[in-house]
Amino acid sequence: MNANLEYDFIIAGMGCAGLSLAIQLSQSKVAFNKVLVIDKALKNQNDRTWCFWSKEAVAWYDPIVLKRWKQFRFLAPDFNKKYDLGAYHYNLIRGIDFYTYCLDQLKKDPRFEFIQDELKSLVSLENAAEAKCSNGTYSAKLIFNSAFRLQKVKPKHVNYVQHFTGWIIETKENSFDDACPVFMDFTTDQEDDFRFYYVIPYSKTKALIEYTGFSQKALKPEEYTRKLQAYIENKHPGIAYSVLETETGSIPMAESPFVNPFGKRVINIGTAGGHSKPSTGYTFYFIQKYTAQLVFQLENGKSLPTEPRQKNRFLYYDKIMLDVLHQKKQEGRLVFMRLFKKNKIEDLLDFLNEDSNPGTELKITSSVDKGLFLPSAIKKLFTP
Ligand SMILES: Cc1cc2nc3c(=O)[nH]c(=O)nc-3n(C[C@H](O)[C@H](O)[C@H](O)COP(=O)(O)OP(=O)(O)OC[C@H]3O[C@@H](n4cnc5c(N)ncnc54)[C@H](O)[C@@H]3O)c2cc1C
Repeated sequence: MNANLEYDFIIAGMGCAGLSLAIQLSQSKVAFNKVLVIDKALKNQNDRTWCFWSKEAVAWYDPIVLKRWKQFRFLAPDFNKKYDLGAYHYNLIRGIDFYTYCLDQLKKDPRFEFIQDELKSLVSLENAAEAKCSNGTYSAKLIFNSAFRLQKVKPKHVNYVQHFTGWIIETKENSFDDACPVFMDFTTDQEDDFRFYYVIPYSKTKALIEYTGFSQKALKPEEYTRKLQAYIENKHPGIAYSVLETETGSIPMAESPFVNPFGKRVINIGTAGGHSKPSTGYTFYFIQKYTAQLVFQLENGKSLPTEPRQKNRFLYYDKIMLDVLHQKKQEGRLVFMRLFKKNKIEDLLDFLNEDSNPGTELKITSSVDKGLFLPSAIKKLFTP
């Protein structure tokens, strides 16, 4: 490494992607002396819950998986099915457990240094990259950025947000099936839009219930409250409950690419790197795949991709799905219901995790309503 540089790497943003990368670097064979991790937040709040499905027998985050299920339920009008997930698990990690675990581990590694500061800009120089913060400027051989999210938006692109509010509620009597989360519940009025609920049980008396919408703008805060109250009343009439925690957020479901204007010594990761899947908003699993790949490339002295998320066939499938939802020729819930009804669950989960092979993809793409999907598939071939 260059002796004049302060740090080998700077990790700009210590959320899911920054900490996932830091932990894997710490556990890797990559040769480095100093890594600086910068965030404006202390990461001491439980600000989100990650759910995702995975097959791996061993993962670095295993110690913090709070719940792991072998089944989940999909609900739509006239369709209610509990799926056995086969080789898959559906996992839950609490944000605060993730941040605390990662920071505890990393603080034991003397090569890692932490600064709480606001990043103002990132820039690539000839042999270094610089992170300018409110209280100083730091340089390294490479910067991994998840703090600045920049998109190249074009008028023909469909850019949605997945917006949501969830409540962790507690009831006195047993109210939830703690062996089986509700992955998607589409049984409520769609209001000419695309909306569903998750029910993620922590126990028989405690669950995270989340309202989720896919659209171009979020709801007002009081609308989420009304919707969650109505859903709970509808599913459990007259039940008394207390709201223990609230989580709220939005995830880009974007056709417009995330771009890297910072030059070749800055690598975008996480949502900034285009790793929120445009058709579903799921991100956690893709962050793990991509940060593991980065560490592998570093261990093996290979060059790193400077452009966020490479163009591939999955991006094309995502663009088609976004367009189908946007066209509203059919309720989005019917599109999803058909995918769940007509495919083997493991194939569908492979496909949504972008781990499927072309044979499986052919089966899945043949299972959709061709009258709806074909025009979007043709259109998206020609949308730059
Ligand atoms: C409430 C919520 C629930 C979610 N649930 C799921 C889920 O169940 N499954 C799933 O797959 N995905 C989920 N996601 C999507 C995605 O996994 C998360 O958003 C994930 O945290 C993205 O990781 P990231 O590192 O890209 O961004 P973040 O985790 O948001 O990290 C970015 C970091 O950059 C820091 N930062 C930003 N700007 C600056 C600045 N100027 N200076 C210094 N620091 C800065 C922030 O403080 C933050 O710590 C959820 C998202 C939210 C918001």
